[in-house]
Formats: sequence, structure tokens, C-alpha cells
Amino acid sequence: MFDIPFLRPRLVEKERFLAYYEEIEATRIYSNYGPLNGRFEERVVAEVFDGTGSAVTVHNATVGLMLAISQSKRPQGRYAVMPSFTFAATPLAAEWCGLEPYFLDIEPGNWQLSRAQLEQTVERLGDEIAVVVPYAAFGSAIEMADYDALQRRGIPVVVDAASSFGSTTAENDAHFGKGFGGAVVFSFHATKSFGVGEGGLVYSADRELIRRIRQAGNFGFAGGRASVSQGLNSKMSEYTAAIALAALDQFETAKETRRTIHAWYRHALRQAGLAEQGWAEQETRGLIVPQFIPIRCPDALGNQAVVQLLADRSIEARTYFSPACHQQPQFRSHPRAPLGATEQLAARIVSLPLWEGMDERIVHRIVQALASLGGEANP
Ligand SMILES: *Cc1c(COP(=O)(O)O)cnc(C)c1O
Repeated sequence: MFDIPFLRPRLVEKERFLAYYEEIEATRIYSNYGPLNGRFEERVVAEVFDGTGSAVTVHNATVGLMLAISQSKRPQGRYAVMPSFTFAATPLAAEWCGLEPYFLDIEPGNWQLSRAQLEQTVERLGDEIAVVVPYAAFGSAIEMADYDALQRRGIPVVVDAASSFGSTTAENDAHFGKGFGGAVVFSFHATKSFGVGEGGLVYSADRELIRRIRQAGNFGFAGGRASVSQGLNSKMSEYTAAIALAALDQFETAKETRRTIHAWYRHALRQAGLAEQGWAEQETRGLIVPQFIPIRCPDALGNQAVVQLLADRSIEARTYFSPACHQQPQFRSHPRAPLGATEQLAARIVSLPLWEGMDERIVHRIVQALASLGGEANP
């Protein structure tokens, strides 16, 4: 056990979803896009996306990615172009859709899919590209103009926005993904900023795409009992929808709490002069609801050493996303562009604890521990 664990998920208290549970008992509808799922989807579109577009709940974001890719991909295409610096769920979803992941590098400062490599790859692979799957790294908004342009050229885009629920864009304070014509997939896993246990949501400005995803998520049934598309069961239960509605009721408070902790970190990192020692935060866009604090450690350290040295001080840190996807046995044989920035970051990325209930003293203790590591690493 650590004095300071990496995560201490806190979902909504039972008192807050009890009223929703009672509705389930009254209606005796437990699943199949029931009334609570419907209400949650409507509230998300109205309150989060300002009434623009359409959304469907899913049992988790991995299944959401599978459905979004499967319903968007070009039939003649072969590759799902994506960053290697993402969670294993992204290439796994592509594999389940019969596609081959094609890994690209990230940009060194913002850790997002390399726009230069994407442009070259689109030129080189042409019609062999079935879909492009950028990952909005650690909840940071990405510049969507290039992806809008791809969509207009007929190249479908599915955004892995797993950790972006609640994030806004830099330009106009709108929710990340609002108005996008491709699919945007959010995760509501217990470890994400908006957690319900297991759950997720696919959003798009394209209502027809969401309608097809909803249908595919219910065995491909189109009204009757005959399957008309390569479906599966992705439905979120009404119990989960009850928790999701209660989580939405108090999301503003949760956002504030997480952003306050992030601000403590920034202040403490600056005060301790960690940038001068070679530590670097992600260059982000828009306002994030941080899931944890990702940071790049100095070249002289290396993330495994940092995790060990922090553990010696009873602080639990992790290393998302290291190893990068192309370094994992399941994905090693997939084609890829040169991945220099990804390999650099995968050897240095450290994820620091963030959970609701953390106080400023804990943040100081973590940052002081980081500040003390520089000395130890120098021979
Ligand atoms: C969490 C995560 C997922 C998977 O989400 P689940 O809801 O757990 O299936 C996919 N991609 C990224 C980048 C994630 O962080």
C-alpha cells in the first residue's frame, strides 16, 4: 500500500442515484436503450453539446470505437491510421473491425498525432486508408480543422476522445468535438474524469451515423428481429444510466475539483523550478478535466526509475502510455512510420496521482519528491 495511491476513484454516492433507481423499479425496464439511457443521451446533447448533433451510449469506449470504426470505415480500405502513443483499446478496436493499424508518430510538445506525417501518409496510402483514428491525448483538445478537411475529402475520422468528456476547445469554449461530422468516442470508465464504472458515449453531428451505430449496437436489428449490419451488443444498462445521470448532476463540481488540483500542481511545479531541471508538461489546448497529471521526466532519469524512486517515498505513479502500442507484442508487426518522438516520450512519460479528495499538501509532497529525484539520478 502507498501513502499516496495513484487513483482513488469516487463515483456518485448511492443517495444521489437512488431516485433514478426507483424509476427503474417502477418502469421495470432494465436495458435496451430504456428511458434513463434516453434521458442521459438527451441531456448530454442539450447540456454538453448545446443541442447540436446526436449521441448514443455504449457499454464501454472500446466497443464504442469498434462500432464507430465499423460504421465509418471505407469498404475498400485496409488501414486504420492512428498514433502509436495511445491506449491498446484503439488498435484493438481497429483489429476487431478487420483493419490493420498503421502507426504514426506524435508531435513532441503536445503529444498529439503528427500532422506532417498524417499528410504524407494520406498522400502515400490513398484509398488504402479505411479510417483515421486520432487520439485527443489526455483530454487535450486537438485542432479539428484538418480532420474536418479529411472528412470532406471522404476519408472517415473517428476520434478517440476517451479522456475528453468535459473538455472544451481553445477557440470558443464549446465542448470538444461539438459539431464534428465524424464520430467522437468518450469513455466513462471508473478511472476517467467522468466515471460510471463501465460506460461510454459516441457523439457526432451526423445523426444518421449515430442512428447506424445505435442499430449496430443492438445486434444490427432494424426495428424487427432480422440483423441488417455487423452488429454486437453495446447497450448500457439502465442501472449504469442511473449512475450516469447522477454523475452529470454533479459534474460541474467534479470538474472544478479536478481543475483546482491541476492548478495546485502547476503552481507547485513552477515554484520547485522543475522545468529548469528538465521536467515538461504537455502543451495543451482548451480546458481539460484532468484524469491524472502526465509529465515528461528529464532525459537523465527515465520513467521506470522515477516510478521506483517515487514508490520508495510511498507515492504511486504510473506510465501511460508506455510501452507505446507498436512496442506491444500484439501490435509489433503492424506497419508504421518513423516513431522517434513516440519512443522518446514512452521512455519518459510519468503519470502522477490525481483524485477527488486530494488536498494541496499531497500535491506538494509529490512535487517535492520529484524535485529531490534530479540529484539522485546524476552520477
Ligand atoms: C480508457 C481509454 C480507452 C478505453 O475506454 P474503455 O471505456 O475502458 O473501454 C480507449 N482509448 C483511450 C485513449 C483510453 O484512455
